[in-house]
Amino acid sequence: MTTEKTAIITGASSGIGEATAKELAARGYSILLAARREERLKELKEEIEAAGGKADYQVTDVTSADEMKALADRAIEKYGKIDILVNNAGLMPLSFMNKLKVDEWDRMVDVNIKGVLYGIAAVLPIMEKQKFGHILNVSSVAGHTISKGSAVYSGTKFAVRAISEGLRMEIDPSHEIRVTIVSPGAVATELTNTITDDDVLNAFKEGGQMELLNAQDIANAIAYAVEQPAHVDVNEILIRPRQQP
Ligand code: NDP
Repeated sequence: MTTEKTAIITGASSGIGEATAKELAARGYSILLAARREERLKELKEEIEAAGGKADYQVTDVTSADEMKALADRAIEKYGKIDILVNNAGLMPLSFMNKLKVDEWDRMVDVNIKGVLYGIAAVLPIMEKQKFGHILNVSSVAGHTISKGSAVYSGTKFAVRAISEGLRMEIDPSHEIRVTIVSPGAVATELTNTITDDDVLNAFKEGGQMELLNAQDIANAIAYAVEQPAHVDVNEILIRPRQQP
């Protein structure tokens, strides 16, 4: 078993997941990167290694409970333990409900909610056996507030917060297992590429300019939560651009 801390990060092929992988690797964690786009994961692994860090990847679709279990098994096979799981993979095809983009609703439920549940199912038995671990679930400011076009996305992110809080309360108090909700406001990533509703896209454009967070801002927040002493559980980090209402 490695003496270094180990982290599994889903959605590591871009944005917040990628920045978090680099940040934790720079802090000495061995990282197992997961997402669907293999080329991006391979490049990131090489980039982390070139900077002196340790990383590997496994192509994983978080909507498959079997693939998530295989990911956790791979981490155990490679590192012998799992210190951290960052359930970060997500998508945000915002739309007005009367557009009936039912396929997009399904995908959001599958990735944003079921993906998080499958991540928990994959690592919880391992962490309970280890008696330590840290699960960080990425929700959103949209998990606190609802706006026109965000009904389903917000629904999934409210669910992530409910699931995380329920899990945190159920952890055996004698175990050093922590649960943290990470709730970012607007971050400059590829996330808005999944929006297909022109009305929502136009509303975005009319929404005015503000300086967005960058993925590194969220990586810094995640690093803060994971590096607290074992008796401290940062329950939630809610982090907005200064100018976001
Ligand atoms: P990106 O679009 O840059 O990243 C999304 C990541 O999720 C990608 O790595 C993508 O990888 C992965 N992903 C999507 N579907 C799947 C799947 N089925 N299986 C595995 N991985 C998948 O966006 P962000 O970095 O912004 O998003 C990360 C998280 O942050 C999301 O949960 C998002 O909801 C949340 N968030 C983002 C905010 C923002 O403003 N950007 C604000 C609040 C929350 P691949 O396509 O290779 O599988």
